[in-house]
Amino acid sequence: MKKIAGFLVYGILLCFVLAAFAISFAFYGAKNSVPVLNYHQINNEDVNALTVSVEDFDAQMKYLAQNGYTSITPNEMLAAFENGETLPEKTVVITFDDGYLDNYLNAYPILQKYNLKGTMFVITDYVSLYPNYITWDEAVEMQESGVMNLESHTMGHINLLKSSKEEAIFQLKTSKDALEAHLKKPVEFLAYPEGDYDDEIEKIAKDTKYKGAFTVNYDLTSKEEDPFALSRVPIFGMENRALERFKLRVTMTPVFSPLNKFKRKLESIGLDIISDHIYIP
Ligand SMILES: [Zn+2]
Repeated sequence: MKKIAGFLVYGILLCFVLAAFAISFAFYGAKNSVPVLNYHQINNEDVNALTVSVEDFDAQMKYLAQNGYTSITPNEMLAAFENGETLPEKTVVITFDDGYLDNYLNAYPILQKYNLKGTMFVITDYVSLYPNYITWDEAVEMQESGVMNLESHTMGHINLLKSSKEEAIFQLKTSKDALEAHLKKPVEFLAYPEGDYDDEIEKIAKDTKYKGAFTVNYDLTSKEEDPFALSRVPIFGMENRALERFKLRVTMTPVFSPLNKFKRKLESIGLDIISDHIYIP
């Protein structure tokens, strides 16, 4: 009986994986969809799930450069979606959350080396305040280089769902104003802290004159997506076979995104025994 149940589970899983492959191959490329990569720290000191080592980051950027990827800003992506322009097949947006100093020390020169562009979502209250975050001078230098584009990750990285409406407006508006005053350019994109948002937060982002906002929902973005709920592809510290896993995330998100949702669903209803067998790179 146990054996039959086991076969049934694997049968269902196999069907789901095959269906995901079929769907992804049917739609991949046809919808002008873009992987927006989501990084946090890039260094060799921190040992946590969000940190990517400098060597791994270099190898990942080298892979993009050598394989003909074009990196664009969120503004360029949204403009292409809005104007119905077809982006190059291999287009990526490379984003970094929080505004860490190591992004300036490690990621910025590597992007420059491979002629790629990145976007940093900065917690404006931390700039020139905490030692492991960038300074305003570094922010200006990166923005002026054309290599790193800076946008908002709110003022104090508070969870917008748990704050009052007034506080949310203040966070979005003040961070935008601070960045615009220092960088002398329009700041029109936001990354929601912890990826948390709802319809009201989306409306506040629109009302405070943002053009779009990013979540941490794991998927490709496309012009079909709500510009105030843009998906991203998380790139975490991946200790072994980091480059292979990176390639899978960049090229196979249409397969792994639905699989990841299915895995989370199984976990949420306590079926860890099945979800443990679903591989997400
Ligand atoms: Zn953050």
